[in-house]
Amino acid sequence: MAKRTQEQPAEETAAPEAQNAPVAEATHCILCEDGVMKRATIKSYNQTVGVVLFIVGLVFLFLGPLGLLGVIMVFIGLYFLAAKRDVWLCDKCDAIIERR
Ligand SMILES: [Zn+2]
Repeated sequence: MAKRTQEQPAEETAAPEAQNAPVAEATHCILCEDGVMKRATIKSYNQTVGVVLFIVGLVFLFLGPLGLLGVIMVFIGLYFLAAKRDVWLCDKCDAIIERR
């Protein structure tokens, strides 16, 4: 009476393809076709704007009534400076494609 039960799915081998997804390390640019898209991390926002917001916010902190506004500007400035996004960046035409 050696009845084999195969009701339990082998979960360990259930998703072997998830990590073997064909994600090319570098792919050709779809725009200029000559360039190679490379992994890059770029800033999401203009860094100058972030610095200005941060500095102006700091100044406002010492102006009494505008203190609350200064706090908000400092945080927004820091967010502008810190926010990044992963993209594919073409080395020829500087085309940028969002990467997930
Ligand atoms: Zn390109």
